[in-house]
Amino acid sequence: MGAVAIATSGTQVREAARIRGGVQGVGFRPFVHGLAVALDLAGHVGNDTGGVFLEVEGDAADVADFFTALTRDAPARARIESVDRTVVPLQRTGAFSIVDSAPASRGGVGGGMHALVQPDIAVCDACLAELRDPADRRFGYPFINCSHCGPRYTIVHALPYDRAATTMAAFTMCDTCRAEYDTPAHRRFHAQPNACPACGPRLWFEVPTALATAQNSNAVAAETTLRLDDPIVRALRCLADDGTVAVKGIGGVHLACSATSTAAIARLRARKQRPHKPLAVMVADIDTARCCANLSPDECALLDAAERPIVLVRARDDSPLAALVAPGQDVVGLMLPYTPLHHLLLARGPLVMTSGNLSDEPIAFTNEDARTRLGSLCDGLLLHDREIAMPCDDSVLRIAERQLLPLRRSRGYAPYPVPLAAAVPPVLGIGGELKSTMCLTRDAHAFLSPHIGDVGGLETRALLQRTVEQLSRLLDVRPVRVACDAHPGYASAALARAWATVHNVPVTVVQHHHAHVASLMAEHGIVDERVIGVAFDGTGYGSDGTIWGGEVLVANYVGFDRVTHLACTWLPGGDAAVKHPARVALAQLQAAGISWDDDLEVVAASSRELQRVLAQQLQRGTNCVASSSMGRWFDAVAALLGVRHQVTYEGQAAIELEALAARAAGRYPADDAETDGRYRFALESDQFDGAPVLRAIVEDLRTGVETGMIAWRAHAAVADAVARIAVRVRHSHGLHAVGLTGGVFQNTLLLSMTCARLHAQDFRVLTHHKVPPNDGGLALGQAMIAAAQQARTR
Ligand code: ZN
Ligand code: ZN
Ligand code: FE
Repeated sequence: MGAVAIATSGTQVREAARIRGGVQGVGFRPFVHGLAVALDLAGHVGNDTGGVFLEVEGDAADVADFFTALTRDAPARARIESVDRTVVPLQRTGAFSIVDSAPASRGGVGGGMHALVQPDIAVCDACLAELRDPADRRFGYPFINCSHCGPRYTIVHALPYDRAATTMAAFTMCDTCRAEYDTPAHRRFHAQPNACPACGPRLWFEVPTALATAQNSNAVAAETTLRLDDPIVRALRCLADDGTVAVKGIGGVHLACSATSTAAIARLRARKQRPHKPLAVMVADIDTARCCANLSPDECALLDAAERPIVLVRARDDSPLAALVAPGQDVVGLMLPYTPLHHLLLARGPLVMTSGNLSDEPIAFTNEDARTRLGSLCDGLLLHDREIAMPCDDSVLRIAERQLLPLRRSRGYAPYPVPLAAAVPPVLGIGGELKSTMCLTRDAHAFLSPHIGDVGGLETRALLQRTVEQLSRLLDVRPVRVACDAHPGYASAALARAWATVHNVPVTVVQHHHAHVASLMAEHGIVDERVIGVAFDGTGYGSDGTIWGGEVLVANYVGFDRVTHLACTWLPGGDAAVKHPARVALAQLQAAGISWDDDLEVVAASSRELQRVLAQQLQRGTNCVASSSMGRWFDAVAALLGVRHQVTYEGQAAIELEALAARAAGRYPADDAETDGRYRFALESDQFDGAPVLRAIVEDLRTGVETGMIAWRAHAAVADAVARIAVRVRHSHGLHAVGLTGGVFQNTLLLSMTCARLHAQDFRVLTHHKVPPNDGGLALGQAMIAAAQQARTR
């Protein structure tokens, strides 16, 4: 090091550099400024659509040190993807400066549209300290932020990320804020959402009914309210009275109520028409989280991460949370506060924080939306005047096998790209129908949108459309092809076709489970290798017109072979069967040759009339759809065990069955299923049949075996079947990588059991860590398949 410095000492150089990646909105320019000043270098730094550009001039050794420190000491939230350096002529100017953002490339090294939009970041410790400091001018101010934290994606209209291109453009900074914003060494230097009580957004509390009578003067009413009373105090009072408060946050409006009061939750559930589906709970800190759940170190770290996702964790028996938060479940969705407002609201105990919507509608994100759509669901609205440019729901993750398992990839993660192994043509994957997201590719990046929802609804479809337009504009991607699901009834597919017509690009129709497998391959950086793709889910349109869902495919991005699948059974009433696991169970019993005897609870619970109609339907196949769905198979087992005969939300029976089995898993030997030869799927040449397992279950029920044990054995039977199938396909196709995907693999017990059996057979096992195994990941797979097709047609 010393020798280098001596050898180059006195030599003056000037270098231009371009830094690509997630380097805007994370305090990168102040960092560069500080570094340059410390090393006594001249030059400048700025943002543009290509990322960060800079030039430094000075002693050659110092310039070298500068670049070393640039990547080594970069701000924690920065993600540097590349630093391209070129030597440029000396300019012999004095100081180092931060220059205005340029819309196009400047500096010595070319730009292009390569900047990444930052996700929203949880409030940082420095800002929190100010929030709680009575002497600070931002004491108690709910919109406190700095260049290390605060909203990003949800306030951006365009790139580069500058105040004028955000919804903060509506607020003119006061002199004090302006001075912070202009001072390179300040923590708020160029913090675009910078604000204070004197100049920034305001919070107010509204009573929905009062509003109805004074509808034409909302703004005035809000102003008056603000002066009359502290909105936080009013909201806390309302929550303490078991009320529901609609809280406008960063990416949308939550419905909040006390998480320890059964009455409060019952009220919210009744209003939201959501009797059982688990509700997320926000707790003040990790210590409170520990009182509610048994947390592993990985789970603590994830809860505390800047993304602040909802983490599904194992609830404690002595948890202070009301059981009504997640009835029938062992797990509870916890998250920590991520906005200053949340910290103020959490003062008096954990809160249920659920998306502000009616079932299946998108999250409300404008004040008007909150008033009209949520007014009847709440007792008060805590609103503010900072607009949300794009809504963004909370993310939901689990830790499985000590790794991340995303169930919903949204706030904090989107629109950060999933890195691809190689550059692909720009395409659009429109996604599926439920839990939908969309995906755009640009170079070696796949940008997945935040969670959009069930596109069957009109409002959600409009949001999907808006997201496609906004993200393609923001990222400057003009897709040359669009991909959609093969289901003829999907609204998303219709939207994709309409979009393709307007933009005059071809459509790639992608089989549902092929897309699941491709999404898994993409997140593992697989380029053109074939894998054994095990895609187990509830419903996907099959290439033969039947409903698939228990599929083993040998696939790459170009195509797939359906090597085997769960034996088909009738789904009485088609998709309606999803709501009635008992009917699915009766159909599967019949298919397995087990008569409907009254000693089976599921039979006894079904009326004679229903049995008569079902028997007729199944015999003739009228109003029935053939299905190989593994999701429905688990539903049937759940109904057989009396876990649940009807469901009120997707996957409910399977989730409760998993809980039952997981409780047993703690008490029974891990190798039980391997010694129990009765619990084995029958492997045939092109299908595997669950009938023998159902017969074993019925036998165990009749001999009084505990249902937890049976549930556990049923899980083990599926894991065992996957491993045996994989061994077969390895022999026939010479493949060693097995991918586990589809909504069924949200079941972490099944996931662990299957991974263990596959690892024991020396397979390379691929599971989801970046995108969800459920339909929230479909868009990525669709995009990869469309990109592969596009690459071949060029
Ligand atoms: Zn901060
Ligand atoms: Zn100010
Ligand atoms: Fe699916």
